Amino acid sequence: MERIHDMIIIGGGPAGYTAALYAARAGLDVLVIERMSAGGQMAVTDTIDNYSGFSEGIPGWELGMKMQAGAERFGAVTKYGEVVSAELEGNIKKVRTSSDEFGARTVVIATGANPRELGVDREEEFVSRGVHYCAHCDGRFYKNKVVAVVGGGNSALEDALYLSRLAAKVYLIHRRDSFRASKIYVDALSKSTNIEFLANSSVAELIADERVTGIRLADGRELEINGLFVSIGRKPASDIFRGQLKLDEGGYIVADESTRTSIAGVYAIGDVRTKPLRQVVTAVGDGAVAVHFAEEYLAECD
Ligand code: NAP
Repeated sequence: MERIHDMIIIGGGPAGYTAALYAARAGLDVLVIERMSAGGQMAVTDTIDNYSGFSEGIPGWELGMKMQAGAERFGAVTKYGEVVSAELEGNIKKVRTSSDEFGARTVVIATGANPRELGVDREEEFVSRGVHYCAHCDGRFYKNKVVAVVGGGNSALEDALYLSRLAAKVYLIHRRDSFRASKIYVDALSKSTNIEFLANSSVAELIADERVTGIRLADGRELEINGLFVSIGRKPASDIFRGQLKLDEGGYIVADESTRTSIAGVYAIGDVRTKPLRQVVTAVGDGAVAVHFAEEYLAECD
């Protein structure tokens, strides 16, 4: 272990690099450990146009690079590697990658959440060419087109309703005949004139040439569509913390608006935290809040 940092931030998405900016600017010795490249899920989003301040929108990867540069300007350091384990209890917390061990007085977890995949053949091949996991990010490409949404939870119904305001027609495909979603969404759905609900249905196959042109359902029916939005839940990247931190039933790290977790000196920010709205703008807010409470914690320890 080379030295004990004031703060290790695991994950270099918008939450992680905002925490790094705030911490480095406050004079803390900050290390960000990032698996691949800055930006997290945001980096695979074509254009971010719901993050205030960019009047023409901005490519997700570019915003990620800018956030990293902004934090590094104040002295935050990035190491690339995948965190494989962490010991979070105690005054000195240890974080291990496959090749190194790092120590810090505080740990900020910003590992995010990944969309759950449908599991049909060639799904990965057609990501962004007709297969999407974020209606609010990519829905605008389907103005006056035909799309399908898969899922029956709040996200799927919210996505279907959002897309129904852009697309000519929306199929909502759900494997059961009743929804997990709240009544407010189900009521709104019943009033919509361009959403067709296909109950007890599932997608068996993608039909595609250069991009998706349709889907075949398990009952053999074929639907001509331009885009498929998979909205069947998300997998928070919290597995390595299981058994140490309190997680909710979906695997999200339990932390309130203070971002404090069940272990003192450990904070969860962005999409990996229990919260009602997972967006870039709420992730960056978490980053600032975590540093505020981490500074308080460090001052108490001194
Ligand atoms: P969710 O509530 O877990 O719903 C996932 C849906 O996908 C379920 O309908 C499930 O079907 C279906 N599903 C799961 N695996 C599937 C598969 N392999 N193939 C086909 N369908 C599959 O997930 P979510 O909708 O993303 O919501 C996540 C959390 O965020 C929830 O707590 C939700 O309430 C919350 N949220 C809240 C709001 C809001 O309040 N405004 C908005 C969005 C999300 P079954 O029902 O058959 O299991």
